[in-house]
Amino acid sequence: MAKITAIYPGSFDPVTNGHLDLIERASRLFDRLVVAVLVNPEKDPLFRLSERVQMLKEVVGHLPNVEVDTFEGLLVDYARRKQARVLLRGIRAVSDYEYELQMALMNRQLEPELETVFMLPAEAYSYLSSRLVREVARLGGSVKNLVPPAVEERIRAKVG
Ligand code: ADP
Repeated sequence: MAKITAIYPGSFDPVTNGHLDLIERASRLFDRLVVAVLVNPEKDPLFRLSERVQMLKEVVGHLPNVEVDTFEGLLVDYARRKQARVLLRGIRAVSDYEYELQMALMNRQLEPELETVFMLPAEAYSYLSSRLVREVARLGGSVKNLVPPAVEERIRAKVG
């Protein structure tokens, strides 16, 4: 059987324990997992693209079949270049579902061969989002246990 590459796209501003939980689960399922950080002109990012990539690389270092990369433009084009068969997305609560469904169906329209796979994080992370981490961090709250230690350190250095 051909080896299966999955792409896990997102903003990862910053990577949280929820993302990492999903990455670890997916790394056991797929032969190769590419975590792809979107090069997007987000209005108010906490971390620059290069910082987000660096943090991701640090926290997936123990997973030999996981790579970190960046992409811009259409995700389906990027997936084709990477020869990926699977697009991985996380679903936390029902609230994620509607948006994810729209995206998955649009991507299927654009590239029928690419299969979107949804995975659930551990329950403890099902309330966790990068947006909340950014808000709490900017207000000086602790994000311990929400993000990997390497990320917590960077947040403290940035806003502390
Ligand atoms: P995006 O801006 O594309 O939603 P994110 O970096 O916020 O990028 O999230 C990337 C992917 O990870 C999305 O599929 C999102 O649903 C999923 N995700 C985000 N937070 C969690 C979490 N706590 N547990 C599981 N999946 C998550």
